[in-house]
Amino acid sequence: MKCASCGRESEYSVCGRCLAEKVKVVEIPSVIEILACSRCGRYKLDKWRRVGLSDAVSHNLSKTVSFHEDFWIESVEFHPVGDEIGRYRIEVSGKLRDYAYSHSDSFEVRVKKIACKKCSMQAGGYYEAVIQIRADKREISDNELESILGLIYRETEREDTNPKAFISKLVEKKEGVDVYIGDKKLAQKITRQLTKIFGAELKESISIAGREDGRDLYRFTYLVRLPHYQKGDVVKDGEAIALVLNAEKKKAVDVYSGKGINLKSPSVIAKRDRLKTTYVLNVDRDVMEILDPESYESISVKKPDFDFQPGDAVYVAKGGDDVVVIHRSLVDK
Ligand SMILES: [Zn+2]
Ligand SMILES: [Zn+2]
Repeated sequence: MKCASCGRESEYSVCGRCLAEKVKVVEIPSVIEILACSRCGRYKLDKWRRVGLSDAVSHNLSKTVSFHEDFWIESVEFHPVGDEIGRYRIEVSGKLRDYAYSHSDSFEVRVKKIACKKCSMQAGGYYEAVIQIRADKREISDNELESILGLIYRETEREDTNPKAFISKLVEKKEGVDVYIGDKKLAQKITRQLTKIFGAELKESISIAGREDGRDLYRFTYLVRLPHYQKGDVVKDGEAIALVLNAEKKKAVDVYSGKGINLKSPSVIAKRDRLKTTYVLNVDRDVMEILDPESYESISVKKPDFDFQPGDAVYVAKGGDDVVVIHRSLVDK
């Protein structure tokens, strides 16, 4: 058929070239407004997201630009131009019916700085839950604290689009750390992981924090208590005396038999930093003599099922009346 307008051969009643003169093929808004959070630096797309400015421009552009229904887009490119801040150039090319069409234009990007919902809630000190990190009958070590806080930060950052996923306060106390969390569900998720990974005990409590819109507001407290014993400690568990290999997984090795055991309700005989080294004086079948590391007298102790020779260095755990000899291979590996 022939184009009704120009008479050229075309498969359309009006060819693309003629149509391009009659209609607006591409409509670019003159201004694109982008919301940015002045606190966290995120941009608002459909949700607040941690993306670069050009991703934010691209997202908002795609929401506002419009094309003629017969236009087949092949490429859309945009880039900032010149010295003028916020001025962008855009090039669109594709096909309008049977006609290769391209269009270039410019638009202005205006970034409006506000505080996102998350940042305003966080700044306002909002929280739904407190995670109290404690250790049973001991202080929390710096290593433990570092890995626990690391986990809390990681989990919080992972929920970037959750407006309540933030830490509003962190209070260090003599007995541990209190972490105030915006979202109680996030706090729950974190505490579940802490109990699993660190073998910690969990106690939950709820209190009413006031009323809002006729509803009671609840605060959740999660007390996470790390176990008394740690890797390297010597513990008594039932009849067994064992060296803790993995406190989280409750794995230990029996210091007499050398066999692996699962801890049930261990109590600490000696912390790992209280283990002493001393020397073997004499070895019998079931007993051996060692040099008491404190009094330097010879004492007789039960012999573990390991090979000992007079003169060997050994570890000793002393707790109350218990004096336990530990073969070096268990401690030094
Ligand atoms: Zn035509
Ligand atoms: Zn923010």
